[in-house]
Amino acid sequence: MNLKSINPATNEIIREYEEFHWDDVDEAVEANYTAFKSWRKVPFSKRSDLLLKATQVLRDKTEGLAFNITVEMGKNIKEARAEIEKCAWVCEYYAQNGEAFLKREMIETDASECFTSFQPLGPVLAIMPWNFPFWQVFRFAAPALMAGNTCLLKHASNVPGCALAIEEIFKEAGYPDHVFRSLLVRNDKMERIIADKRIKAVTLTGSTPAGKAVAATAGKQLKKCVLELGGSDPYIIMEDADLSKAADACVAGRILNAGQSCIGAKRFIVTEAIYNPFIEAFTDRMRAVTLGDPFDEKKNMGPLARHNLRDDLHRQVENSVAKGAKILTGGYVPQRDGAYYPATVLADVVPGMPAYHEELFGPVASVLKAKDEEEAIHLANDSVFGLGAAIFTQDLERGKRIAEYEIEAGCCFVNDFVRSDPRIPFGGIKESGFGRELSHYGIKEFVNIKGVWVK
Ligand code: NAP
Repeated sequence: MNLKSINPATNEIIREYEEFHWDDVDEAVEANYTAFKSWRKVPFSKRSDLLLKATQVLRDKTEGLAFNITVEMGKNIKEARAEIEKCAWVCEYYAQNGEAFLKREMIETDASECFTSFQPLGPVLAIMPWNFPFWQVFRFAAPALMAGNTCLLKHASNVPGCALAIEEIFKEAGYPDHVFRSLLVRNDKMERIIADKRIKAVTLTGSTPAGKAVAATAGKQLKKCVLELGGSDPYIIMEDADLSKAADACVAGRILNAGQSCIGAKRFIVTEAIYNPFIEAFTDRMRAVTLGDPFDEKKNMGPLARHNLRDDLHRQVENSVAKGAKILTGGYVPQRDGAYYPATVLADVVPGMPAYHEELFGPVASVLKAKDEEEAIHLANDSVFGLGAAIFTQDLERGKRIAEYEIEAGCCFVNDFVRSDPRIPFGGIKESGFGRELSHYGIKEFVNIKGVWVK
């Protein structure tokens, strides 16, 4: 079966790509494995130059690359351009810092010399999602390549055009052949590919069920894996929050990428004293969110990436309403072509509803009421997920205390919406996965941390 690029704004098939046969997979893995033998010996200075060239290609070709994103998965073109710039940033960041992050660490012992060295592992397989089809790949690939690994990309089946465009960027930047290869395959081929002896490690960014399947296979093969999975980030709005600023940040955190972000703001936990005024300010802003052609820069949101994702989301909304949630705005399927869904606010969300327990991967906000700080923290942590979180309060000491000690999440922001940044470690706990990307922690995930002792 071919992989199809379908424009979710128009339902038009843009192009079909022939899926790789097993022979094609074998050729790509072998070439990547062979490329590793010389790539691992390329000095940091050269790896850094190449990554800076990739940065330049991304910046020079922003418009065309952003077009690829918008046409295949429907995000607004302004956000697509920003995504390309963020990829350029992460390449630049690791080009400038990668060598220092992996510098030998000397250890005081009774040996004449003793140190820790960071050596590449080999071909690393990256299984990636469609929601940030460039960013997710670059935030893995920039540090992995800088560390001396080679990369095999299995991208989501609905963005094959992006997968090939990314491969092309590395070619244009002048990387040696086969150091970065895309495998055009569906998920049903992954078990055998992960098991391939030439592949040394695997990383997956995607849903929790996909993460569990990959972790099981990687475990059976005793291969290192990093899992960046789903989330249902809680945003706690304390009674002493600056209401207007909090409402602005909450809306921004919910509608970015039409709500299809792992670190999207998903559950809004509002303390009783501020519940009604917050709901009013937040709902007014959500009502003002415009939906439409993703190439129209004046619109806030394009369609969701696929019709089945939109239909799943709507089902979650309907099932929550059937259990007592109240729709304050949105909550319907627009009568138009394309996988559109409006900004939606669900109030009075309580345990037992899909909106309470599940990830809502679209522009739907679940609002929960908490008696006080203690109950707000309890509700925030009452989730299988633990990716990001945010707290809004004008008492910064209180915000810091809750962020640092109380919230079960891989990152926690005070008075701002959660975002990824090359300088800050990124990843989750609980069913949001394990391992970290970005910062110096990210580059150390796919290296052999080797102790060297010289008598
Ligand atoms: P998905 O269905 O899990 O797909 C992600 C990738 O995994 C795709 O390449 C997919 O391939 C592959 N895949 C699916 N099932 C697999 C299996 N059993 N074995 C091996 N590979 C498998 O997720 P999605 O719908 O594209 O993305 C949305 C999810 O990703 C959300 O839950 C979101 O929160 C999460 N996400 C997490 C992060 C993070 O950093 N933590 C970032 C972005 C997204 P096919 O396309 O061929 O099915």
